[in-house]
Amino acid sequence: MRSFKERFPKGHRPEITDLETFWEADIYNLFRDFAEYILRKYDLRFGIPLWTEKYGWTYRIGKSGVYLVKGIRIEENGFTVDDIEVNDREKYPLLLAHIEEIYLQKKENFLERIAEKNKKQAERNKRRIAGEKKEFASVQAYIVPEQYNVFSWPEKLDIHKLHKLYMLDAKGIRDEVLADEIGLTLYLRCKYGKEDMERMEKGIIRCHGCGNELSGETDFRQCSCGRQYSYREYRRSFRRNNMPTGAAAQTFHAFMRKWNTAESYNEKMVLIDTLLHEFHLSMISGATHRPVAMNFIDGSRTHVDQIINKLSLSMPPK
Ligand SMILES: [Zn+2]
Repeated sequence: MRSFKERFPKGHRPEITDLETFWEADIYNLFRDFAEYILRKYDLRFGIPLWTEKYGWTYRIGKSGVYLVKGIRIEENGFTVDDIEVNDREKYPLLLAHIEEIYLQKKENFLERIAEKNKKQAERNKRRIAGEKKEFASVQAYIVPEQYNVFSWPEKLDIHKLHKLYMLDAKGIRDEVLADEIGLTLYLRCKYGKEDMERMEKGIIRCHGCGNELSGETDFRQCSCGRQYSYREYRRSFRRNNMPTGAAAQTFHAFMRKWNTAESYNEKMVLIDTLLHEFHLSMISGATHRPVAMNFIDGSRTHVDQIINKLSLSMPPK
């Protein structure tokens, strides 16, 4: 068996979900339990791993980009946190006690650093807003309010329909129309998440009125159909709407590719199920980004987490 460092060299940063394929199920489950535990008890998450020459990719846990524990190492048969080697359930309570001790010891300083970081961010925002105001004033005369920044992103999942699909499936009833509808909703969000992101990387936006592409150097964009946009606001709206992109892009691309060729009800259900399984995994491994489910389901993070927890109970085990 190849070591963690060989399996994930410097050029290949592992996602938390990649650990599932690296470890035996026992260890992976232990690690997942740990991730879930620190999230619930301390609101701490695993951050993006850091490369070290000695140990390869190491993990950190913290919040808002401030870390409480660093240098968590991944071994073939477990993981090491501050010299505590965790490779079975017996060692696990030792780890939890250690985390509690660190948390209590460093809590004050940890929360201070987060507050400091947020304060600096607020100052940056203030300066940015002042700049944007000035720019807006220069185009204000051209703006038609009912045509300006009217956004319509592909719709999100209707969670009641998803529930219904699972309930029926569990009873052996195949609602092909419903499976198609849900799959297509997921598909369209993935597709526009990918394509619109690629456009925006080139400074181009897609008009939500007519589909035309609008390029240009300035923030203000006018479409021949009458719609008008602020490029910055367009990008913000894309993010606020949680269009699928970023860390889980590979997952979305895979879903799109396979959905295009899926024909039978079974094939489609497997694809929907695989994506939902990903929702659950990303929720508990959280990292610094939002759980994947928020790309497809409306609601606050807590609300979406609850939905996914509930749904995962009715999902067939993976
Ligand atoms: Zn247009």
